[in-house]
Amino acid sequence: MSQTMRESKPYAVTSVSSRGREHSEHFPRNVDPYAIDRQRVLHSAAFRRLEYKTQVFVISEHDHFRTRMTHTLEVASVARRLCVALQVNGAVGELIALTHDLGHPPFGHAGEVTLAELMVHHGGFEHNAQSLRVVEYLEHPYPAFRGLNMTHEVRESLAKHCTLYDSPGSHPLADGTQAPIEGQIANLADRIAYDCHDLEDAIGAGLLEEADLCEVDLWTNAAEPVRKAHAHLSLAAVRRPILDRLEAKLLGDVVAEARRRIAAVKVASIDDVRNCGQPVVAFSPDMEPRIAGLESFLLERVYRHHRLIRMDDKARRFITELFNAYVVERGMLPPRFHRRIDDQGLHRVICDYIAGMTDRFCQDEYKRLFEPFERM
Ligand code: MG
Repeated sequence: MSQTMRESKPYAVTSVSSRGREHSEHFPRNVDPYAIDRQRVLHSAAFRRLEYKTQVFVISEHDHFRTRMTHTLEVASVARRLCVALQVNGAVGELIALTHDLGHPPFGHAGEVTLAELMVHHGGFEHNAQSLRVVEYLEHPYPAFRGLNMTHEVRESLAKHCTLYDSPGSHPLADGTQAPIEGQIANLADRIAYDCHDLEDAIGAGLLEEADLCEVDLWTNAAEPVRKAHAHLSLAAVRRPILDRLEAKLLGDVVAEARRRIAAVKVASIDDVRNCGQPVVAFSPDMEPRIAGLESFLLERVYRHHRLIRMDDKARRFITELFNAYVVERGMLPPRFHRRIDDQGLHRVICDYIAGMTDRFCQDEYKRLFEPFERM
């Protein structure tokens, strides 16, 4: 029997145990509710815009760096693998991964930090919270309700991974309990995917040499057998097999640790997962400091590289100046955003508008508003 055919564990999310949708809708019988959710995410404007949003490296510089879209697809793939290994619902893990960055603003982390600063006295900004806002409110493809009316388990997973909702009561779905296991898996899959692909893109961008990478023990361990077999090849020629080994190591660690935790606390149902008091999906205590070492290496050598700081600073100025210009003259907002101001507040509406922009749209809008000879 193939691995995908193995029976699911009793704590997996299933359509039978789903808490359903906020607005009742009629679907043909035997249609999997998570397949409907997946289709709604793929059809959303927010999903299509991920293609033109920066992950780490500005997308206009090279066509082969990760974008927010290809990052999302890699997270979905890692989530699916973890779900299969842990015998839980791979379709749900993948769906949460496809949804997790829908609210990410343009220009990557710099965009998020800038909006958070601009919104500090107006309810804050955090991209996980914004992803939930996209699926609950901002997308509006059906006249009967706002949002995508997604299943409870997807919205719950987004709410429970959001620092803005850490204080109880700030979102009804963030009640202090844990996310379903598929949501926890998507969260770890995000981390595994970006740790590996940011290394690959940084090597591709010429930011890292092999000597730099030898500071990271996870890299050195993964590279050793590959380098033994291919001593004379360039780093570019061997980075993929090394990263495959690194990724497999991280996946194996998460699977073993999750199995250990599930057995230790005798998890037997989805509510046991919710009420466990801590995530069941996590890196092992041995792996956590090694991952932290890799991530602080990425922070120092990649995210704080002078080429990236120059880009971040430019993005900060774009976004801040656009934001302030709309605050001064709200009449410049498109009518569908302008109409929401009474209900949502000016700053929130501006934040929603900018968070939804692609890098390209944001740059074009800046030119239209601030360059005197640009057409409006
Ligand atoms: Mg992500």
